[in-house]
Amino acid sequence: MALLTIDPKKCTNCGNCVRTCPVHAIRIQVGMEYPEISDARCIGCGACLEACKYGAIDYQRSTGEVEVLLESKIKVAAIVDPSISGEFPDITDYRKFVEMIRSLGFEYVIEVSFGVDLVAMAYKKLFDGKKGKYYITANCPAIVYFIEKYAPSLLGNLAPIITPMMATANVVKAMYGNDVHIVHIGPCLAAKRETSRTNGHAGIDASLTFEELRALFTARNIHESQLEFSDFDPPIGRLGSLYPLSTGILEAGEINQTMTNGNVITAEGGTPSLKAVKSFEKHIDQIRKNFNIFYNEGCVMGPGMTTTDDKHQRNALVLDYAKKRLKYFDFEKWNESVRTFGSIDMKRTFASDDQRLAIPDEMKIAEILKLIEKEGIDSSHCGNCGFDSCREFAIAVGQGLTRTDTCYDFALKNKNKYIATLRESNKKNQEELQALKEELKRLREEYSLINDKLDTSREIMNQIPSGVVIVDDKLKVTSSNRSFIELLGDEIKEIDEIIPGLRGADLKTLVPVQFYKLFQNTLATGENIISRDVQIDEMLLNVSVFSIKKSKIIGAIVRDMYTPEVRNEQIIQRITEVIDQNLEMVQQIGFLLGEGASKTEAMLNSVIQLHKTRKKK
Ligand code: SF4
Ligand code: SF4
Repeated sequence: MALLTIDPKKCTNCGNCVRTCPVHAIRIQVGMEYPEISDARCIGCGACLEACKYGAIDYQRSTGEVEVLLESKIKVAAIVDPSISGEFPDITDYRKFVEMIRSLGFEYVIEVSFGVDLVAMAYKKLFDGKKGKYYITANCPAIVYFIEKYAPSLLGNLAPIITPMMATANVVKAMYGNDVHIVHIGPCLAAKRETSRTNGHAGIDASLTFEELRALFTARNIHESQLEFSDFDPPIGRLGSLYPLSTGILEAGEINQTMTNGNVITAEGGTPSLKAVKSFEKHIDQIRKNFNIFYNEGCVMGPGMTTTDDKHQRNALVLDYAKKRLKYFDFEKWNESVRTFGSIDMKRTFASDDQRLAIPDEMKIAEILKLIEKEGIDSSHCGNCGFDSCREFAIAVGQGLTRTDTCYDFALKNKNKYIATLRESNKKNQEELQALKEELKRLREEYSLINDKLDTSREIMNQIPSGVVIVDDKLKVTSSNRSFIELLGDEIKEIDEIIPGLRGADLKTLVPVQFYKLFQNTLATGENIISRDVQIDEMLLNVSVFSIKKSKIIGAIVRDMYTPEVRNEQIIQRITEVIDQNLEMVQQIGFLLGEGASKTEAMLNSVIQLHKTRKKK
């Protein structure tokens, strides 16, 4: 299980964690939406937890497994880091928090300070050996991981001594039996990983941070006011209770740390502590001192504390606690414990877990520097990316640890270019929009004019007593007048109510075959058909089909021959045609018969007159 994870639902992609991680274990690669923590590269320093202001990073929680242990019938011992004095300024007497822990169901509550005493003695022995070799203390797991992963050449310089947590676990097993299970409680995240690194020593079942301990108190409703005092179970430590301060282990071991005669340098506090490792790596021959290194400014400022806001107040709390403990300290008992457990195995080994990445070739680095517009200025830097120089940043891009857009300067320039492009395209869009608006206005006016004309045309068409229909080359009606619709009967009138003017209707669905064949004929030939009679059921229609636009648009005038007006008109027209034909004949016969012909004309004219008179009536 990974020690730390990022919740994408909470992550805002601000990149703070990426810039903060001292070993670049948090990557944001091309194509990744959110950063990701590489567990293999992570040293468990916890810096990212504080850097993320959105609570998107969380660490592996162990409360569940501890609760399972406490609910079982197994005996469980809590081994508590002395930093607890800095964690609970709200608790009046340390014996109260001992009882609170006991109330959770722990059989034994033992302070780690006796383990510190044993470890401190081992350090004194090692440092006083004066054999020309110098050591780095191995008490801070983050520093040990850093050396194993990023400075493996120093593995031989890591003090081969177990941590106070491991030493205490050994003592507990020796004192209370191997069947006792152990839960560590402290301010350290990396200690959670340490529980699985027994290295042949007593196993630790789980490690809780003080934050998790408080969560358990809350869940079980455990308060100081409801409880009596109770002291730690033996063995009790002496100066080991100063361990939360970075020089506490030296004090506990009475190791000389004076400037003139001392042989130990203490380094602490984030990046400077890692730089101290690098300094040891490069210059130990000139420095010639042992290094006591803690990643944080003492464990009392560790990431598992619920707050790390005031170092000096916390240091004062630790010192008060240590003094209080020493006031009634039983040296005799302590000496006896040292005699009893002083021979436990304190040895430890380390293994390389090299996470250093290959450096890309110079061409690749130069290419990236050029891309981010930092060509030739690779040694300077603004520091915003979290790397030591633009070159280091370019190397990290080449190693796939980060993306070019995490360079603020480059991202800002790109952003500005992008904004300028957006402005330009916005301006163009505005102009196009204005042109479109004007075009739309013109089209609206045109449309309104056409509509007016169409209305007028429709009105004129509707005034024509004969049926008028205009169709396109697919025989789809483009226009028809009221008389045409009335001619076709009630069913077509209903269609007209839905589709006014039958516009778009298929003529073939409106009229019988003999009718629309005339239209097809004119479309195909382009020849007009004048005055053709078509019998449809009870109706005799007189149809004239004519081409308006050759093979594209044709129109027709349709008249019902049985309406009185048409009938009279037709009779007059037909009689006129007979007269004309007869006249032709008469003219031819006239030569022969003389005025006989003029009589016939007079007679026929009187018939015409008679019909005209009837029509007027
Ligand atoms: S715990 Fe430390 S090393 Fe691990 S990801 Fe966070 S900042 Fe990086
Ligand atoms: S600091 Fe938090 S919010 Fe910002 S990128 Fe990292 S995980 Fe996401």
